[in-house]
Amino acid sequence: MQYKITLIEGDGIGPSIVQAAVRVIESTGVEIQWDKQYAGEDVMVQTGTPLPEETLDSIRRNRVGFKGPLTTPVGKGFRSVNVQIRQILKLYANLRPALSFAGVPGAYENIDVVVVRENTEGLYSGVDYWVDEDQSAGISQNIITRKASERIVRFAFEYAKDKDRKKVTAIHKANILKCSSGLFLRVASEVAKDYPEIEFEDRIVDNMAMQLVKRPQEYDVLVTTNLFGDILSDLCAGLVGGLGLAPSGNIGDGIAVFEPVHGSAPKYKGKNKANPCSTILSGALMLDYLGEQEASKKILKAVASVIKKGEDVTYDLKQDRNDASAVGTQEIADAIVKEIRSTK
Ligand code: NAP
Repeated sequence: MQYKITLIEGDGIGPSIVQAAVRVIESTGVEIQWDKQYAGEDVMVQTGTPLPEETLDSIRRNRVGFKGPLTTPVGKGFRSVNVQIRQILKLYANLRPALSFAGVPGAYENIDVVVVRENTEGLYSGVDYWVDEDQSAGISQNIITRKASERIVRFAFEYAKDKDRKKVTAIHKANILKCSSGLFLRVASEVAKDYPEIEFEDRIVDNMAMQLVKRPQEYDVLVTTNLFGDILSDLCAGLVGGLGLAPSGNIGDGIAVFEPVHGSAPKYKGKNKANPCSTILSGALMLDYLGEQEASKKILKAVASVIKKGEDVTYDLKQDRNDASAVGTQEIADAIVKEIRSTK
């Protein structure tokens, strides 16, 4: 079977890490026709919009997209294209696994946590405005609905059931944000009753941050609202070795876009330095979503093997970040491709 998938290389390090990941994905033997589309900073300069309608139409048509990071101007300029893609295409579940790899310096061992983040509302709803022309105060509304809360918590439990996971933890701030976070917690507790075989618990977000740093191995599937999920998933990425190892999928009903958790890291643009593993592992998530479990596992195994050997790895996976023996983006991808080919 041949799949047609929308490909968006993205900004900054995007083209380099996406090209590396495409080579790895193709080396599994899964046949993919890439439908290359554009979004982000450069296309904004050329066309006046950072998210052309053709790009959205391509994802709607193909039902699956694979993308690199897109730059969002900080504190000014256009709205995040990433957030727009998730909201317009109703990609309501953001799946962000954090998995330990042997050989990663300074990282905890035996972590296997999946953050399931609500992707369409909360503080990222887009209701964000100044109260006056002097910009002396700003308001960002935290919109939480019963519908989206139920949908994301059910997604987390179904994911746990499908992947044979044992526990779902709902994360909130219901002690202070009684209406928004309180509603999320209430709905989560209701949905949990439909899954008696899966343990359910809840944590207040600040405590959760501390618990994750102290005893991350105790957690399994975490489900939470948009901003908390964004922050805690980066925290989890840090626990297993950094953003270079953090993949994600944005999943809706019959439509999904896969991308690394991290941003466009502009300081590494054109330097062949960034770790492509986050994008490569997003490719593995995409293959799993497509039903290509064998190919997905091949990628995971090859990435683990290359990291464990510790020779052909990027700067972020070395004990000393300035280690001159660190390889570049394309070279670690070459090593992963070689590993996949050798296990055929
Ligand atoms: P970032 O691009 O994620 O980079 C932050 C730091 O994370 C880097 O300086 C680097 O750390 C590390 N890092 C990121 N990617 C890495 C990789 N592939 N390999 C190794 N290390 C990696 O965050 P940012 O600088 O805050 O944001 C830059 C732009 O990206 C912003 O415009 C932001 O809005 C956008 N962004 C986009 C997305 C998305 O497209 N989904 C997500 C987040 C941010 P060291 O400095 O320690 O090497």
